[in-house]
Amino acid sequence: MKKVVKFGGSSLASARQFKKAGDIIRGDRARRYVVPSAPGKRNDKDEKVTDLLYQCYDAASSGASYKKILDKIRKRYEEIIDGLDLNLNLDAEFNRIEENFLHKAGRDYAASRGEYLNGILMAAYLGYTFVDAAEVIFFDAGGVFDSEATNRELGERLEHIERAVIPGFYGSMPDGSIKTFSRGGSDVTGSIVARAIHADMYENWTDVSGFLVADPRIVKDPEVIETITYRELRELAYMGASVLHEDAIFPVRKEGIPINIRNTNKPEEKGTLIVESTCRKPRYTITGIAGKKGFCSINIEKAMMNSEVGFGRKVLQVFENYGISFEHMPSGIDTMTIFVHQSEFEEYEQSVIAGIHRAVEPDFVEMESDLALIAVVGRGMKATRGTAGRIFSALAHARVNVKMIDQGSSELNIIIGVKNADFEPAIKAIYDIFVTSEL
Ligand code: ASP
Repeated sequence: MKKVVKFGGSSLASARQFKKAGDIIRGDRARRYVVPSAPGKRNDKDEKVTDLLYQCYDAASSGASYKKILDKIRKRYEEIIDGLDLNLNLDAEFNRIEENFLHKAGRDYAASRGEYLNGILMAAYLGYTFVDAAEVIFFDAGGVFDSEATNRELGERLEHIERAVIPGFYGSMPDGSIKTFSRGGSDVTGSIVARAIHADMYENWTDVSGFLVADPRIVKDPEVIETITYRELRELAYMGASVLHEDAIFPVRKEGIPINIRNTNKPEEKGTLIVESTCRKPRYTITGIAGKKGFCSINIEKAMMNSEVGFGRKVLQVFENYGISFEHMPSGIDTMTIFVHQSEFEEYEQSVIAGIHRAVEPDFVEMESDLALIAVVGRGMKATRGTAGRIFSALAHARVNVKMIDQGSSELNIIIGVKNADFEPAIKAIYDIFVTSEL
């Protein structure tokens, strides 16, 4: 059995957190490959080392004073080293980093040093081999992650190493320079390593107990999702539910490796298991609810629209011309509605409306702003009658007016459009009818 364990920034923010991670790793012999993030926040007011590194680099490379910030970063590591009683000195590393900053080694290089140093520290603490991600994770000349070259190299390298620490978040370009994934990218590294070593499990240790059925800022103490499929996760993540970096799914999915989201501060909890498919019945009819505010709709009306071939294409072409993607497009016999992100649309609003007039000569175009979309997601909905009925009666009871309904053909989700102001009451009502009342 082989497991890859990734620890997030808050799980490694202090010596105390490091000890928890160490206990978790030593608690299971299968936890052979460790991917650390940079030290994160120790409390709400604290700063992430990654953010400090960006600040420090910006100052150093523009000739401003940077020594204080660099010192702050150094202290973060020294505190951990002292707290763990490690015989490790990072002076030479810090000297090299400072020199490279002054020689403008790049922002990606700067940010990556958070994970690099934490990797050295973690390897020393565990007695594992340190493998620099720059030697095994590759980006092509265009800066796109090169999955196949990486998979080959990483697989070969780790085949001969029983236990290793591979820092998250970065890799290297063909010219040897450092390139990072987008923020939160250590999740992606963990997934890449899991694929390369054919892991049985990718454990992602963080500071929450897994994916929650609904946003805890809206629903008080929501239940944890026990098992979720990759497809369900995509739907929820797209609608704003975030625990895992979006790109972390693809590498493990190729190999059918499950991801287990776990809480470093509550290791006794099972967390959320993310799988390709499962026979496990979801605990509730729905798996999760997520949503986003800030949409607007463009309603187009034209008599006999239904018989006008190419009408939809011509309308969508106008949006495409302005680089605006649409979210949903419910239609009636003589009406068509397009949902778009308000922030993307505002700038081009008048041009798009004029474009639609020119393209299809509608009878009427009307817009509505400040709308929210809510996705109710669940593989259990397919086999259950009355799900839509329950959602809409719950919304009616909560006095929420439904503006739009869209059920995906997979029957995996139902999307509901409401006014921004109804967003929170709608989510609460849906949660209550499926979870609270099924408990
Ligand atoms: N340290 C990086 C960040 O703060 C990457 C990560 O933690 O996954 O975004």
